[in-house]
Amino acid sequence: MNEFKAPKGTRDIFPPEIQKWQFLERAIHDYYQKFLYQEIRTPIFEHSELFSRGIGDETDVVQKEMYTFKDKSDRSLTLRPENTAAVVRAAIENNLFETVAPLRFYYIGPMFRYDKPQKGRYRQFQQFGIEVFADESPQLDAEVIFSAVDFLKNLQITDIRLELNSVGCPQCRPAYLDVLRRAASAEKNKFCADCQRKIDGNALRIFDCKLPACAETAGRLPLISDHLCPACRDHFAAVRETLNCMNVPFQLNPRLVRGLDYYTKTAFEVTSGQLGAQNALLGGGRYNNLIKELGGPDMACIGFAAGMERIVLHLDHLALPRAKNLFVAYGDHQWLAHAIQLAQVLREEGYPVYLDYQGKNLKKQFKKADRVAAAFTLVLAEDEVKTASVSVKNMASQEQIKISLKDLNAWLKKNY
Ligand code: AMP
Repeated sequence: MNEFKAPKGTRDIFPPEIQKWQFLERAIHDYYQKFLYQEIRTPIFEHSELFSRGIGDETDVVQKEMYTFKDKSDRSLTLRPENTAAVVRAAIENNLFETVAPLRFYYIGPMFRYDKPQKGRYRQFQQFGIEVFADESPQLDAEVIFSAVDFLKNLQITDIRLELNSVGCPQCRPAYLDVLRRAASAEKNKFCADCQRKIDGNALRIFDCKLPACAETAGRLPLISDHLCPACRDHFAAVRETLNCMNVPFQLNPRLVRGLDYYTKTAFEVTSGQLGAQNALLGGGRYNNLIKELGGPDMACIGFAAGMERIVLHLDHLALPRAKNLFVAYGDHQWLAHAIQLAQVLREEGYPVYLDYQGKNLKKQFKKADRVAAAFTLVLAEDEVKTASVSVKNMASQEQIKISLKDLNAWLKKNY
């Protein structure tokens, strides 16, 4: 029996699945650089208070899901459960608002939540996300949402549903929360203990509860969409109008409040028809007060985060290009030095090349060439070395021809 196993809720990623991850990561870099986003990398752990202040003390993430520990100097640190608060922290601390333009960032990296593991839900999972600072235009909200949907479509993920809501702002939300609290208190005993606590704290978080009885009762509660102030109503109308003009279909979901406290105005989520219970592919929205809340300037922001494990589950149908490897074989150990030089030259030309230093005989090397999926095996033996040539075997057709070394690159360029 194996003594060590990966901790619950974590997983190893290795070939062939890793190919899909590399493909997805490249797609993220390529796609978002088209919109002038720049990559940002922040630490895996931060001071715990950043998340309790940024995400909200009453959220499930902060209450139940954080990996928090004391370091040797008795500081409370937390493995990041999401990355928006950290990106905002980095922007404030490094004064990026003054020094980087445009203020559009994307990130790719692991997040940690003490969630109940199941398919598509892990304790260490990978997110990519974008954050745009300093623009309050509703058209930007639409562009951000468009990019999320368009990115998925480019990956041929089409069975998706975009849900949209506005969660109001500090002008209209307090009055709505009073109305909500009164209505929820009237049905208090129908809620679980957790939700009952939320009624008196942050009542909006009641909508996050997944228990059927709570969800049913919450379904009868007043909706934020009926309590928006004129500014939020106008903003939301302009977002919907721009999405229509961009041909992005969406469904209004007045109960979509997202699980994190920092959202204001636009909130959205994209779900997949192909996943089971964990069907959310990405979610995001505006968070116009977070920068100020964390000690920075009063500046509007919008962003989203996407679950990469869940996107990878959709990539099976994509015909990922198979690596066309070259294998350099030698008839006898005395030709190994020539083989090493040939492999070096080929790699400099950009080809992926494998050389088996332990190659006992040609038969064994050909077997190895099959195992590393070589498209061609290039054989050096006495005759080839004497005539400055190489025998090239096409591993699929088994045809073999001899080519002089000086013509090899041109031949490969044509036939590779
Ligand atoms: P959130 O940061 O909660 O808004 O989540 C954004 C996206 O991250 C979700 O839509 C999921 O795709 C993904 N996600 C969140 N939690 C997990 C998890 N525990 N395991 C895998 N993916 C997750």
